[in-house]
Amino acid sequence: MKGDTLSNWIAGQAVEAAGSERIENLDPRDGTLINTIPCSGPKDAEVAVSAASSCMEQGGGGQGGAGGLNVADRSALLRSVADSVERRLEQYAEAESRDTGKPLEVAMEVDIPRGVENLRFFAQAIEERQPMSFSSASSVNEVLDRPVGSVALITPWNFPFHLLTWKLGPAIAMGNAIVAKPSELTPTTATMLAEEFTGAGAPDGLFNILHGKGAEAGDALVRSENINAVSFTGGTATGRTIAEVAAPLLKKVSLELGGKNPSVVFADCEFSSTLEGIAKAAFFNSGQVCLCGSRILVEDALHDALVESLVEQAAQWSDRIGPLITKEHRNKVASYVALAAKDGGRIMCGGEEESPEDGAWFAPTVICGLEHSSRTAQEEIFGPVVTIHPFKDEDEALQLANDTDFGLAGTIWTSDMVRAQRFAQKMETGMVWVNTWNERDLRVPFGGMKQSGSGREGGRWSMDFFSEARNVCVKQ
Ligand code: NAD
Repeated sequence: MKGDTLSNWIAGQAVEAAGSERIENLDPRDGTLINTIPCSGPKDAEVAVSAASSCMEQGGGGQGGAGGLNVADRSALLRSVADSVERRLEQYAEAESRDTGKPLEVAMEVDIPRGVENLRFFAQAIEERQPMSFSSASSVNEVLDRPVGSVALITPWNFPFHLLTWKLGPAIAMGNAIVAKPSELTPTTATMLAEEFTGAGAPDGLFNILHGKGAEAGDALVRSENINAVSFTGGTATGRTIAEVAAPLLKKVSLELGGKNPSVVFADCEFSSTLEGIAKAAFFNSGQVCLCGSRILVEDALHDALVESLVEQAAQWSDRIGPLITKEHRNKVASYVALAAKDGGRIMCGGEEESPEDGAWFAPTVICGLEHSSRTAQEEIFGPVVTIHPFKDEDEALQLANDTDFGLAGTIWTSDMVRAQRFAQKMETGMVWVNTWNERDLRVPFGGMKQSGSGREGGRWSMDFFSEARNVCVKQ
């Protein structure tokens, strides 16, 4: 990384793109220039993919790990990088905070430590992965875990470092070579990480970074005949485009997409911890979290008290969050609040903020009185905006909770654990939390149903995605 100018990172070194066009990376807080990245195209993508393919060849073309690294080598490499990132925590957190606009403490306490944890988790998981075999009277079957090959990792801007390591950890652990395409809005920590791998002795071409726009650099990776799998996290519309391109090429694809997640609050909940939990689910990271609880469903008896208290919580959260990622995104979020008002919603607090520093600020916003079928209650806004809807009983709560095209996550707040279990079984989401939100155990499956994606990440699900399970059957 040279000063204000980031380059692609290919085969262990900074490489300029073929074209001279550059993309400006702006600070969401005040619009100042942080750095620029290359606007890579198909030619640059092929240079990066060919570096990854050469690295796979060193491992015997997929029979062994990329760069000839065995399990112990990969595990040691992931641990060594995790240690050096941890030593440079402040530098990484500062870069992440600048690119995303999130407060430095959040990057210091959440984003970077979680990324380090991801690397360490998969370093250990690969060591503990058990080989599988199945015997019968007539044969012995041995299952071979082989790398998929060269894989593309395409990631969004809301948790840039954390989400990249969440894919990169299992991809490297399983012996693949990588071309990562970070969001053009938050390119810095990915570049630092690629350099970190090279510094830790990673073979050239194991971890390559291709910067650029999604529809150009990202699309070129998905189309490349030498990319064997695509792991994508981002919006549902982009996920659909990637699926359309990848399907006829018969590539492995994992899609982690958007959400419109319900927080379901029963009148028998423990009020103060519920309030704290649903406010965090609504406003953390300025609501720019795929898992955020943006539809609050509340039992009639608690409705008015909850609205009043959430408005108080919203005021406290306005000091704990940064701006939205760009002014364009702020305009989109503001348009949903305007639409809600037009559709008869009551804006209890929040809305667009004056931005003297020319940033993309937006205050935590609580909206009541909207039809559940309204667009503001149905579409992913990805900002600090919640709509609140009353329900009379459990049946209506379930009907509302599942009345969405999305199916990523949901939370249930109640002191009745029998009800919580019954309700959780019927929710159409990949993940359910009871009396908590976003509590993560890296061993469990992570991902969504319906329009929130296909495939699962986490633990063995990530490791299965980044491997080809082959079976060898020997007659006894
Ligand atoms: P996005 O879909 O606009 O972009 C994500 C990435 O895809 C970026 O790197 C972008 O450059 C790239 N891209 C865009 N078009 C492409 C194309 N045609 N081909 C290949 N790559 C392309 O999403 P975003 O705005 O960066 O992120 C916000 C979205 O991500 C929200 O919808 C959020 O819910 C979702 N998200 C989901 C999860 C999850 O785990 N389910 C986690 C975080 C964010």
